[in-house]
Amino acid sequence: MPADLLRAEGLAAGYGKVRVLWGAGLTVGAGESVVLLGPNGAGKTTLLKVLLGLMPAWAGRVSLEGEEITTWPSDRRVRRGLAYMSEIGVFTALSIAENLAIGGQFSPPARLRRRLDELYAVFPDLAARRGALAGSLSGGQRKMLGIAKALAGAPRLLIMDEPSAGLSPLFVGQVIGILRRFHATGLALLIAEQNVKFLDLAERVFTLEGGRVGFSGSVAELHADNALHRAYFGLGA
Ligand code: ATP
Repeated sequence: MPADLLRAEGLAAGYGKVRVLWGAGLTVGAGESVVLLGPNGAGKTTLLKVLLGLMPAWAGRVSLEGEEITTWPSDRRVRRGLAYMSEIGVFTALSIAENLAIGGQFSPPARLRRRLDELYAVFPDLAARRGALAGSLSGGQRKMLGIAKALAGAPRLLIMDEPSAGLSPLFVGQVIGILRRFHATGLALLIAEQNVKFLDLAERVFTLEGGRVGFSGSVAELHADNALHRAYFGLGA
């Protein structure tokens, strides 16, 4: 197993008086791809937001390469190599180029230019329409822009909230293909999903239920657990 890039232990968090996370923890190794599976309302978004510093941890600890970052603001985490793609992922009132510039806002200009050239080569549809408003793109193209925006700062770990949301199976396959390509260059992934198709990408899986991590292991181990298999792959699977 690779050395831990990101580690979360005993996280508690919530909204007002409502506690959503009850001691959740996980790890992502350098260059590893991890899928966080869980049903609606399990607390996946909440957990990701705490990892990014978008919500405070009420208890527990987050560390990056062994350094505690639990109370760091989000921008400091992003400068250190984390990137986040929410379910929405893009600013619809801004152009493609402006979205990418925001994604790479902490990079020195020359490095950002090189990175954008690389990204436009991977996403030719975006390159062809770089002045167009993100809101004018189809759902699938928006998702691609969301990924490109998150990658504009050349992160080491891309944290994604339900990238399959609103996508047709065809686009889900394309998103997985793109992520696989960047993962092959050393990008670590943490993907919160309900869509088990994303397990194709997973080197390790965590399940989140009721704000706690239940299972952690390989995809093969998940399949071997009858109860989990039924819960996530359906009775007939
Ligand atoms: P989903 O797939 O539906 O997004 P999830 O696993 O990401 O689910 P969360 O979005 O983290 O789950 O939500 C966990 C719980 O927190 C849910 O019960 C939800 O209703 C509640 N919750 C989420 N956001 C808020 C909020 N802003 N205020 C109050 N409660 C919230």
